[in-house]
Amino acid sequence: MHNALAIKGGQKTITKSFERFNTYNHEEELAAKSVIETGILSKYLGCWHEDFFGGPKVLAFEKAWSEYFNVKHSIAVNSATSGLIAAIGAIGICPGDEVIVSPWTMSASATAILIYGGIPVFADIDAKTFNLDCQSVESNLSPRTKAIMVPNIFGQSADLNRLKKIAESYQLAIIEDAAQCPGAKYHNEFAGTVGDIGVFSLNYHKHIHTGEGGMITTNDDKLADRLRLIRNHAEAVVRDNPQKDLINLVGFNFRMGEIEAAIGAVQLKKLDSVVNQIIRYADILTEGLSQLPGIQTPVISDGCTHVYYVYPLVFDVEQLGISREHIVAALTAEGVPGLAQGYELIHLLPLYQQRIAFGKDHYPWHPAIYDGDVSYNKGICPVAEALHENTFVGLLTTMYAFNEQDVHDIVAAFRKVWANLALL
Ligand SMILES: *Cc1c(COP(=O)(O)O)cnc(C)c1O
Repeated sequence: MHNALAIKGGQKTITKSFERFNTYNHEEELAAKSVIETGILSKYLGCWHEDFFGGPKVLAFEKAWSEYFNVKHSIAVNSATSGLIAAIGAIGICPGDEVIVSPWTMSASATAILIYGGIPVFADIDAKTFNLDCQSVESNLSPRTKAIMVPNIFGQSADLNRLKKIAESYQLAIIEDAAQCPGAKYHNEFAGTVGDIGVFSLNYHKHIHTGEGGMITTNDDKLADRLRLIRNHAEAVVRDNPQKDLINLVGFNFRMGEIEAAIGAVQLKKLDSVVNQIIRYADILTEGLSQLPGIQTPVISDGCTHVYYVYPLVFDVEQLGISREHIVAALTAEGVPGLAQGYELIHLLPLYQQRIAFGKDHYPWHPAIYDGDVSYNKGICPVAEALHENTFVGLLTTMYAFNEQDVHDIVAAFRKVWANLALL
């Protein structure tokens, strides 16, 4: 029974258990320590003053980020969620404005729109890249559309040139949710720097992290001003400020502290090696898995690189004649870690189904605010829904500390399961 599937009582292909992916070492420790020794853990003032822009570590981290990503402005914040909210505020989304977004993303891509009373309109995704389908974006345009929120999902950018053309024709802003794609290339630029604003995440389970944190990028001076104001109590920053009339710009405390910024600068130096390693592992997976029938390995678009926050697979369950659940159970029994079945379908969350974001009066969908006819019915995004329900499997590449042998072992586990599919 040497070759029997582990789920049928045979030997597991992979017997080790995996540590959490981690790039922290003495360099981050020294960076944090150097801040603690100064005693200045944060240096913002919420008024118009040289300290309005944060302490020396925040400023240095922002400068390093701008240099690496070749952008004019980088604005450090305490999470990507905060960054997305600030971005929606900076482009001036008002109650009742529609913003097109993908349902196949982390919930904050859409929630950020609601914070300003905007209406998320969900367009479908492309079955190969899982990014926004440009045709679906076009068919969801209305006179109320003000922006497109573009998640560059799993580590590869959306079709940004085509989205930019649509945005130019209809005078829309583009916000890139770049939380999952730091270091991914889009032609000669970095994903996250192509739209009007890009937002990166530095939370614990992203490629590089500061525990919690985020970075916003833009090449537009006016947007950068507004983003910095929203980060730090905009409405109160009136005295001595050249922009005295700060109305319609409610601010928050989205500030990043000095320890996080000092660590972030160290982590940024590791981004190249983190990305190169993940790409090398993904290439091994793709070479091994693309030979198996009934499995779609990642599709890389022209001019793009993929940094595999998730390594995405689609099973052709009709061709294979077995459900995704059965196959994943067999792979998991072989010891393959981090297999996620499906991803997100935000439009089906209770908040959208019941249309209540705030209060009891269906704000912001209340007819006094919104006179459009957005639908959140099941069926509005058939491609995303079918992938989620039946065919998509993501390998959580950034979750575990894999070495090259582990990746070969994962391929071996898939091959073993595929050789025994008829027995499942
Ligand atoms: C992680 C993530 C976020 C949120 O990041 P935080 O820093 O945790 O707020 C937003 N969008 C996407 C696509 C993400 O993956």
